[in-house]
Amino acid sequence: MPDTIASLLAAARKALIAADVDGSALDARLLLQAASGRSHEDIVAFPEMVLEAAVTQKFLNDIKRRLSHEPVSRILGVREFYGRSFHVTPAVLDPRADTEALVELVLERHGNIARRIVDIGTGSGAIAITLLAERPAFEGVAVDVSAAALQVAKVNGLANGVSGRMSLHQGSWFSGLGGAFDIIVSNPPYIPHGEILGLEVDVKDHDPHLALDGGADGLFAYRAIAADAGQFLGNNGEIVVEIGAGQKSDVVSIFKAHGFVLVADRKDLGGHVRVLAFERAS
Ligand code: GLN
Repeated sequence: MPDTIASLLAAARKALIAADVDGSALDARLLLQAASGRSHEDIVAFPEMVLEAAVTQKFLNDIKRRLSHEPVSRILGVREFYGRSFHVTPAVLDPRADTEALVELVLERHGNIARRIVDIGTGSGAIAITLLAERPAFEGVAVDVSAAALQVAKVNGLANGVSGRMSLHQGSWFSGLGGAFDIIVSNPPYIPHGEILGLEVDVKDHDPHLALDGGADGLFAYRAIAADAGQFLGNNGEIVVEIGAGQKSDVVSIFKAHGFVLVADRKDLGGHVRVLAFERAS
C-alpha cells in the first residue's frame, strides 16, 4: 500500500510517542509540512494524498532525527519567535517562548522613541532583532563571544529588515563596546554547571553549552554583567535580564550590590519569574 499523508503521520506519531518525544503530533505535522512544502490546510484537507518518494524519504529521515531528540527547530533550521522567523544553527541557543516575556517587558516600558540598546550574548539575535523590528526608532548592538553565533544574528538581522540599525560586535560581555546604552538586555547562560548533564536530551545535546552554562551556581553571568553595566548604562537607563527559575532573589542581590534596584519583573507561561528589570538606585 502506498504511503498516504494520513498513514505517514499516524506512523510517525506512534513512533514519537513510543520514544517519549515531546509534542509528537505537532512535530510530525510540522516536519511533514516542511518536507512536502505543503500547507497545514492541504495536509488536513487531503489525508489520502500520496506523496512523492523523495518527500516521503525526507520526512522519514527528519522523523528519525526527531526520534533521537533533535528539536524540530534544529531539523528545520528555523524557529518562530515573537511572530518572526529566525534561522538557527548548532552555534546558537534555540530561542524559547519564555524569552518573549523579556521582549514584552521592554516593549511595555519603552515606546517608539530613540533608544540605543545592547544585547549581551545575542545568539540568534532573536531579542535584539525583535526589539528593533517592533521599535523602528531603536538602534543597537548585538554582542556575542561566538563568531559563529554572530554570523547567524547577521543573517537574521538582514532577513528581518533591521540590519541597518543593528551592529554586530564580537566580544565577552561589555569588552570593546563604546558609548552609553539606554537599554541593556541579556538572556545569559544561567544553568548551574552541574545541572547541565541532567537536562533533557533536546537541550543538553543540541543547545550550545556556552549559552547554557552559568558557572558553578548559575549566576556567573549576572555577576559579570552587574559589575560592568554601570559604565555602559546611560542616564535613566535600564537593564533587563532573563533569569532561571528560582534565581530572582540571588540576582536582585547581585545587582543591588552594584547600585541597581529592581523596577519590574515578569513571569513566564509556567509561572516562574523569568525577567527582571533594573535601574540605578537613586
Ligand atoms: N531557558 C533555557 C533552558 O531552560 C536556558 C537558557 C539560558 O541559560 N539562558 O534550557
